[in-house]
Amino acid sequence: MPKAFLIDTSKCTACRGCQMACKEWKDLPATQTKQRGTHQNPEDLSASTLKLVRFNEYISEGKVVWNFFSDQCRHCVEAPCKYVADEALPGAVTRDEATGAIIYTEKTKKLTAKVFEDMRSNCPYNIPRRDEKTGLLMKCNMCLDRVSNGMLPMCAKTCPTNAITFGDREQILALAEKRLAELLKKYPKAQLLNKDSVSVVYLITDEPKLYHEYALAPEKRVEHAARYGSDSDRHQKGG
Ligand code: SF4
Ligand code: SF4
Ligand code: SF4
Repeated sequence: MPKAFLIDTSKCTACRGCQMACKEWKDLPATQTKQRGTHQNPEDLSASTLKLVRFNEYISEGKVVWNFFSDQCRHCVEAPCKYVADEALPGAVTRDEATGAIIYTEKTKKLTAKVFEDMRSNCPYNIPRRDEKTGLLMKCNMCLDRVSNGMLPMCAKTCPTNAITFGDREQILALAEKRLAELLKKYPKAQLLNKDSVSVVYLITDEPKLYHEYALAPEKRVEHAARYGSDSDRHQKGG
């Protein structure tokens, strides 16, 4: 059964437990950080930071507002990065049929710099990164090792405020709509981001751009779908 996450940013306290838990479970090295005038650290996702809590601080009507956004791969229902990789090297990027997770395999080492750049520029959320030492392309894999053994993804397991919920897609989408209805009473701009096209659904309480430049998929997703077709189209074509 397809799985999904709900990331309810209204419950996030920016403790960064999810970011650390991801790194620990994946056995990824620490990232050198420096003070850049923000609490967000490191500055961006990388081959060793697959989950990043983004901070956006600004003044609105004389008050300081702080938005937190626990960023990661969205495991797109029609994944543009997979379509690009499939054209170059079938099997480098796969979809786990049971969960819908998009997986970068060992074969991604063989993808050229040009293909990687294409994958990254076609990802509506600017997610794929390359490990310069190993050549592997890196991103969240939905903790498939845990999920396929009946456990929660490490970030969802760790979150102390239940800002990250994981489960069957249908149930998560129902929960997302219920929670949205609650938040709309207080926050008229509350919204679910790209909920029909992703497996990681964000619930935010204000404009997407006040969270992160790539919070909401831009138009290029639509252009991409027109160019590459859907998984089902490709299947019928034998692709
Ligand atoms: S968010 Fe980007 S990297 Fe993740 S599946 Fe979608 S296109 Fe691929
Ligand atoms: S699902 Fe696993 S790999 Fe993905 S962000 Fe969460 S902890 Fe990291
Ligand atoms: S663990 Fe939960 S509360 Fe803490 S930063 Fe991550 S999403 Fe936010």
